[in-house]
Amino acid sequence: MNTKYPETLENLIDSFGKLPGVGRKTAERYALYVFMHMKDEDITDFSNALLSLHTDIHICESCGNISEGNICKICSDSSRNHRQVLVVESIKDLITLEKVNEYKGIYHVLNGSISFSKGISIDDLNIDSLMEKVKGGEVDEIILATNATLEGETTAKYLKELLKSYDVKVTRIAHGLPVGGDISYLDELTLLKAFEGRREY
Ligand SMILES: [Zn+2]
Repeated sequence: MNTKYPETLENLIDSFGKLPGVGRKTAERYALYVFMHMKDEDITDFSNALLSLHTDIHICESCGNISEGNICKICSDSSRNHRQVLVVESIKDLITLEKVNEYKGIYHVLNGSISFSKGISIDDLNIDSLMEKVKGGEVDEIILATNATLEGETTAKYLKELLKSYDVKVTRIAHGLPVGGDISYLDELTLLKAFEGRREY
């Protein structure tokens, strides 16, 4: 039986409970910590940071990356090769790959992967703007950098099928990617090798 706190605190507990990996007990601990120990100014900073997410941060209309404007810094960078698109599952993967500082093309964030068990199909992924670029002949190479998991592989296969009828080279990063590997957990050297060792897909 859950202890009932005053409604305001219960609301905060509910909010913390929406974070991944945070159960009721942890959410209670966080909420009580905020109430008992956090300074007023820290609480204000915390809530302002949350509130400004909606007003100051957007999803890039072109690639799905996080952005302060409608188009992200990478997509607005004319020194990058816009004809080479590296496709990743998540913004976290994009940031991990970008840290390697080797890739000079642009990205496309799918915002998920196909999962039959979770009922996620290709229609649930962010692919429209990518397909538009391909159909418009704006892309020479698509590098599939989805994770080496069942979902990631399924997604890569699906995209390859989808891209088959267009004049675009499709490659898949492979070398050094462990099976079951999540891109965002890989070290930079492994990622660099995976990128360099990409092959026609
Ligand atoms: Zn972008």
